[in-house]
Amino acid sequence: MYPTMGTAGRTVRGVAASDGIAIGQARVLVPRVVVIDRPISADTVPAEVSRLRQAVIATDGQLASLSTRLEAEHLHEGHLILEVHRLMLRDDAVVEGARRLIETQEIAAESAVRRVIDSISAKFKSMEDPYLRERGADVEAIGERLLRTLLGLPEPSGVASAAGTIGIGSVLSPVDALQLPHSGLVGFAAEHGGKTSHAAIILRALDIPLVVGARGLVAAVRPGDTLVVDGSRGEVILNPDGDTVARYEERRRGERSRTRALKAGFAGPTTTLDGVRIELAANIEAPSEVGGALEFGAECVGLFRTELLYLDRPELPGEEEQFRDAVAVLTALGGRPATFRTLDIGGEKLPVAVQVAGGANPSLGVRAIRFARRRPDIFRTQIRALYRASALGPLRIMFPLVSGISELEEARRACAEIVEELSREGMVFAPDVPIGVMIETPSAALCTDHLAERSSFFSIGTNDLIQYAFAADRENEDVEYLYRPLHPALLRLLKTAIDGARGAGKPVAVCGDMAGDPAFTWVLVALGVRSLSMAPRFIPAVRSIIRASTLAEMEALLAQALLLRSEVEVEELVLDVMRRRFPLELAKA
Ligand code: PEP
Ligand code: MG
Repeated sequence: MYPTMGTAGRTVRGVAASDGIAIGQARVLVPRVVVIDRPISADTVPAEVSRLRQAVIATDGQLASLSTRLEAEHLHEGHLILEVHRLMLRDDAVVEGARRLIETQEIAAESAVRRVIDSISAKFKSMEDPYLRERGADVEAIGERLLRTLLGLPEPSGVASAAGTIGIGSVLSPVDALQLPHSGLVGFAAEHGGKTSHAAIILRALDIPLVVGARGLVAAVRPGDTLVVDGSRGEVILNPDGDTVARYEERRRGERSRTRALKAGFAGPTTTLDGVRIELAANIEAPSEVGGALEFGAECVGLFRTELLYLDRPELPGEEEQFRDAVAVLTALGGRPATFRTLDIGGEKLPVAVQVAGGANPSLGVRAIRFARRRPDIFRTQIRALYRASALGPLRIMFPLVSGISELEEARRACAEIVEELSREGMVFAPDVPIGVMIETPSAALCTDHLAERSSFFSIGTNDLIQYAFAADRENEDVEYLYRPLHPALLRLLKTAIDGARGAGKPVAVCGDMAGDPAFTWVLVALGVRSLSMAPRFIPAVRSIIRASTLAEMEALLAQALLLRSEVEVEELVLDVMRRRFPLELAKA
């Protein structure tokens, strides 16, 4: 029934998005469409049957054009698979089976399709032969596509549960990324997405290897194929032979012992050889991550991405729950401070619980502090919870995606109202919680001197700052080449922002991914950053670099870099020095 694959040892290249190596069996992840049984009246049966037939024709058309494209791109295996899917779609078992159900049970076309597909795939899955068992997944894939057409839903992305396998899919959404550990997946490879996408950030926090932008992968891989996901080099190897697997296992062991070696040198604060103190903080997404962060040597939490706790649930959390989460973080930190970023919802971070009006360009639309303005009820609930938690440990509040002083003033007014409210209620809390601003838009970066009048501290979110400075969607692998943290334009922007903040006597941290890349440590410290917040596992390498360097040599390198005109020249200069001086810290698995 199926063509033979011939993919053994083939490599599909993409973008390295979360370090590490995962080896396992592939599972193509397509989210199940939720269908509620919908009864129809007898007189609408003919219309419903015709709706079914039209959806089958439209779905077949989608498969045909996909199949033609794959053939044109010489992805022969994928083309053949889709041709087989087309045959399965038009099979009487599906179309006639669904038609009969519509007529006899008087149910909607999608209800009938769901029942038929579930019953066929259950039959396949109960078969002894593993090859035939896997065909159940193909039936499901076709069924899901047909249902999506019937219901007018977009192309599938996402994750259904699987155990001990490697997920592959079109794109990984943040909500799906959060569910990955529960599904037992050990790695993921997606056809689309960027390395600073939120899904990538989540997988890095979870220590799950990820490759994005691996075009053609889904068509080339069959369920059950063995895959190596090399998240450090951005490659996926299909059906590797025994020697290749052994080589990757060896590299995986090497990577673990490198991390152990870098962790071993940890004791006390991090200071340069000439005595400049640098704070190393953790970016976390859940209270449960605090323990691991402290083990890696984090001194505090520099960025708690609060929204990630709440994306994948049917309702947003209330004040009590958010209060408990914040207290859990502070308690686990045992007196060390934590900076809570208020909800950064919108863009591609769409919670299940609330509708966000995305607009034509969601990442330029209602997101983060802009969402807070639109939904003061949700914002105020969070602020109340955070102020209340301030009674139990040193807590700071930080607003994401602020574009200027007016937005900051507005958010601060909400805080002042909450302070008054809590005082009236006789609550115990710290009324002088430090309030800070994330520098993520060029407009904010250019005005830190003004923002400093109303902000206790700053933290630069380089992921978004780069996205907005270069007009390059961080979720789109086609513009990934514009993610160049050493570009002269970004260096200037950073310098302006940092000088403005420091000139006004306000501390400035970096909490974007740039902070956790040891290649950029010298540049950031030389620019005047004294606090770096990153995914905990990058702390040991960054710490090791700082302890072996002087501020003077970092500043000398930056001075040279600032004279150069292209990102290529700056990269050559900086990476050459860093690779020579710190081969262990900069080594990739
Ligand atoms: C950033 O934009 O750099 C940042 C730290 O925030 P996030 O990655 O969550 O958007
Ligand atoms: Mg951001």
